Amino acid sequence: MPNSFIPLSVPHFAGNEKEYVEKAVVSEWVSTGGSLVGGFEEKLAAAVGMPAAVACASGTAGLHLAMLVAGVQPGDEVIVPSLTFIAAVNPVHYAGGVPVFIGCDDTLCLDADAAERFCEECCEVRGGALVNKTSGRRVRALEVVHVFGNLAGMPRLCALAQKYGLALIEDATEAVGSYYTEGPFAHRHAGTCGDVGVYSFNGNKIITTGSGGMLVSNHAGWLARAKHLSTQAKTDEVRYLHDEVGYNYRMTNLQAALGLAQLEQLEGFIARKKQLYDAYVRRLHGQMGLSVLPFCPGTRPNHWFVSLLLGPGYPLSRDALIDRLRGENIQTRPIWGLVHQQKPYAGCEAYATAKAEDYAARVVNLPCSVGLANEDQARVCETILGVAHAH
Ligand SMILES: *Cc1c(COP(=O)(O)O)cnc(C)c1O
Repeated sequence: MPNSFIPLSVPHFAGNEKEYVEKAVVSEWVSTGGSLVGGFEEKLAAAVGMPAAVACASGTAGLHLAMLVAGVQPGDEVIVPSLTFIAAVNPVHYAGGVPVFIGCDDTLCLDADAAERFCEECCEVRGGALVNKTSGRRVRALEVVHVFGNLAGMPRLCALAQKYGLALIEDATEAVGSYYTEGPFAHRHAGTCGDVGVYSFNGNKIITTGSGGMLVSNHAGWLARAKHLSTQAKTDEVRYLHDEVGYNYRMTNLQAALGLAQLEQLEGFIARKKQLYDAYVRRLHGQMGLSVLPFCPGTRPNHWFVSLLLGPGYPLSRDALIDRLRGENIQTRPIWGLVHQQKPYAGCEAYATAKAEDYAARVVNLPCSVGLANEDQARVCETILGVAHAH
């Protein structure tokens, strides 16, 4: 079918999904009790080289827990990237904190140079705490997002966090399976280099539980507190005693059933995504002012999303290209609008965002589902080139 619909990114259920979900249903353990949640935690932790993990209802819930266990207090500032999905930033607000936005570098991830300049030039250390000279607020944490599965510059960001006593929170929601192959963090996975990291298993992520997330931490106490907070902060199973305000953020057994089956296929999914990425590079990179953004050397990315950058030589605007592709039944999307320009955060401080503004205006994400057929991918490429030739 020449004009069948090609989605941007949809789940791929080719393994034991049905079997495990059926097991959960038959057992009648469908909610937050049930053995599969613990099983999924163990397997995911092992996959990213950590001793333990805490499963939660979504990546957003996990990030909220991460802010709380990292000690973000009402009125604290948290350094965050502006070029990201807003769900990376909202948890700062849930914890009562205030985001300070920083631009990106050419990896699309938080610009470590700019973050360092912000700490050096706009802040000062008072009584051991980093304080923003303009707002007078304490800067408590630094959050980094591993955008589209690309690893942010963790060695530098860890050193920066250490130097200024900042908690380092990794939003690894898009980077399940990405790890360093070289350098000081060789073999360390996204999410495991800082103080606390969070993965997401939403429907469009590389593996999915429908909705779901997972938190890991290099501090056993933080991990235990995250689990405690995720289960209504209950201290006594029988008598319903609670020692603080908690949340209903625990993953369900049904979600974990899906997750276990998906995790078994993760390496196969990454291999297929790499094939798709390589084919996009071969067909589009360097053609008509187009480039396919690279992943960082010295890493094994999960190749979750493909980013096409429209250069000055490409004759259509970003939005015109997306419209033309939609007309051919091909779903693509622009990269996110910058978070500091969104209504809820319009008054917040933003620093060194020029490069992020440029990328935000010129990047299109291309179809990259694990199940995307080679001929459909070829149709995507020929359409992108064809509409430009015809222009
Ligand atoms: C998907 C995503 C989240 C949120 O995860 P959910 O599981 O959808 O709540 C947060 N940050 C980024 C960068 C994401 O891509």
